[in-house]
Amino acid sequence: MRALIIGAGIGGPAAAVALQRAGIEPIICEARAATASSTGLFLGLGINGMHVLRELGLLDEVLSRGAVPTPWLEFFSATGRRLGAVPMGRLDERTPSVTLTRSALQEALVEAARDRGITIHHGRRFVEYREATNGVVARFEDGGEIEADLLVAADGIHSAVRRAAFPDAPAPSYAGLLNLGGFVRDSGLPPTPDAMRMVWGWRAFFGYTVQENGEAWWFANVGEARAPRRGELEAVSTEEWRRRLLALFADDAPFIARLIEATPEITATSIHDLPSLPAWHRGRVVLMGDAAHAVSPSSGQGASLALEDAIVLAKCLRDVTPVESALARYEALRRPRAERIVADGRRRGTYKALRSRAAVRLRDLVMPLALRVFANGQRLAWIHDYRVRWDEPVTGRAA
Ligand SMILES: Cc1cc2nc3c(=O)[nH]c(=O)nc-3n(C[C@H](O)[C@H](O)[C@H](O)COP(=O)(O)OP(=O)(O)OC[C@H]3O[C@@H](n4cnc5c(N)ncnc54)[C@H](O)[C@@H]3O)c2cc1C
Repeated sequence: MRALIIGAGIGGPAAAVALQRAGIEPIICEARAATASSTGLFLGLGINGMHVLRELGLLDEVLSRGAVPTPWLEFFSATGRRLGAVPMGRLDERTPSVTLTRSALQEALVEAARDRGITIHHGRRFVEYREATNGVVARFEDGGEIEADLLVAADGIHSAVRRAAFPDAPAPSYAGLLNLGGFVRDSGLPPTPDAMRMVWGWRAFFGYTVQENGEAWWFANVGEARAPRRGELEAVSTEEWRRRLLALFADDAPFIARLIEATPEITATSIHDLPSLPAWHRGRVVLMGDAAHAVSPSSGQGASLALEDAIVLAKCLRDVTPVESALARYEALRRPRAERIVADGRRRGTYKALRSRAAVRLRDLVMPLALRVFANGQRLAWIHDYRVRWDEPVTGRAA
């Protein structure tokens, strides 16, 4: 069986490796050119996602690419008061959850797929498909076509495959927040060992981690009522973002302004998630990762969920026949969990950009208790302790 995967982001190459293990021949088509520089800031890899990488034999390769141990999220108020800490967990004694640049994770997975002989075509943008006998024919912007037994949509939140398979599906929903950030090589700040620190500022939310060598990675979530048009954010210069951010964080701890000042390039994206879709598969087409259940970065689970999808999809195709039943089983196993995490991520974004000082003070008052009660290890276990074992067959409802 041949599976055509659209998208070589995070989920696409992981799915290719897993499908190959299941005896399926994968081929990947990615819209971006091979020479395009990788984009994105950094993302958290939950221990649930790291477990998938370990099952697929990819974890060491990924961790060797500058992954920063971040088993804790530490929260601070606008006045600098420590509000609490949330555990992100450890896969084992020596392997805490990590944060790494999106480009490092993507490159590790793409190279792992290539090393296993998997073909990746760059610069091929999927446009539409038609059904064929026991399969699909995908058409690309360059006019070319590829026939396969299965079409896997790993083409992200604005998935063209999803639009083609489910033209009436709801569009991604804007969360009213922008995500900005950058890297500072020599920040002069003390290291933040084992932690990503988060500051609920007076007007916006700031997260950062500083490594032993002084390199700082930071992001900011700022309120913006109107959803930006396509290309609008990319057209704003770093100097303009810097000016806006300095105004937003003017009353917060001064190190935030120093980091913003020292950042050579500030990038911005808008935060969206995806409302529940009518279905995740139709005929021989199946959705995975952000194409099926895009989640706000506030959840820290986007990459991990895509990795979970990859291994569960491959296991279902390995163990369940015919293909249509395997896809139905995959959706049944994945959808409740993914949609619960999407809803959780939406909630987490709610208090990041409050408008009044009174609301900020109330938030700071309530937060220590809220973190202790709702964000302790036990409460988060359903997210972090999810495990999919490659050698266990798919039976019943658990993968
Ligand atoms: C450029 C970019 C930057 C990101 N930066 C961050 C970040 O800083 N922090 C964070 O938490 N998350 C970020 N994300 C989101 C994060 O990567 C995903 O939430 C998560 O990893 C799920 O991965 P995915 O494989 O489902 O989708 P993605 O990682 O979004 O990958 C989708 C891939 O499909 C390709 N593609 C799209 N349309 C087509 C088409 N028509 N034909 C062929 N290929 C297509 C895209 O170029 C991309 O490579 C970013 C995503 C992208 C695309």
